[in-house]
Amino acid sequence: MRLLLVEDEKRMAEALCELLRLEKYDVDHYADGPEGLDAALTGAYDLIILDVMLPGKNGFDIAREVRKNGVKTPVLMLTAKSEVDDKVTGLDCGADDYLTKPFMTKELLARLRALGRRNRNTVDGALRYGDLTLNKENATLTCGENSVRLSEKEAHILEYLIANQGQILTREQLAVKIWGYDSDTEYNNVEVYMSFTRKKLNFVKSKAEIKAVRGIGYELRYGHV
Ligand code: CA
Repeated sequence: MRLLLVEDEKRMAEALCELLRLEKYDVDHYADGPEGLDAALTGAYDLIILDVMLPGKNGFDIAREVRKNGVKTPVLMLTAKSEVDDKVTGLDCGADDYLTKPFMTKELLARLRALGRRNRNTVDGALRYGDLTLNKENATLTCGENSVRLSEKEAHILEYLIANQGQILTREQLAVKIWGYDSDTEYNNVEVYMSFTRKKLNFVKSKAEIKAVRGIGYELRYGHV
């Protein structure tokens, strides 16, 4: 399950990342409001943990914009204070649940499990990028009338590229993300799977393309000539 954590307090974020990874969540962390919002808007996550006080943009505004853009990912707000006002504001702007700091990790994990179950029932599990729709449930890639099944690795690669659109991802980042920290994946494995994934994009006649940036890595682009 992919989880987005937006939290600016360094030690809190580190502890949460470690805890959540131990629980087998695939965690991406941002410490800054606008970056967190961009990540949330990709729809690439199954769950979002959102702190309220953040640099650049607060958690309430992020939740509001996420919902305004039709992203239905369940949001758990972390409120620093126990005031009722904060909780009400959080729920009003589209968060699904809240937890007051400091909290017990057991409590956090229980809330996340509950939200995760809700997610499976209510979200169609689809990611969108340009003319593409990637259905994560059945790993089907669709563009207009065309669709094709992706292998598990191809689906992960595309999901990761969509989540990080506009950024160049290095082969190292991709290898770690797709094959895991412990694997001894050769970087040319990444290249091989990139070319499989590209073929699928061509097959459905998408205008999205995976650009190789020489000596650095890969980037997903849309509609460039
Ligand atoms: Ca904070």
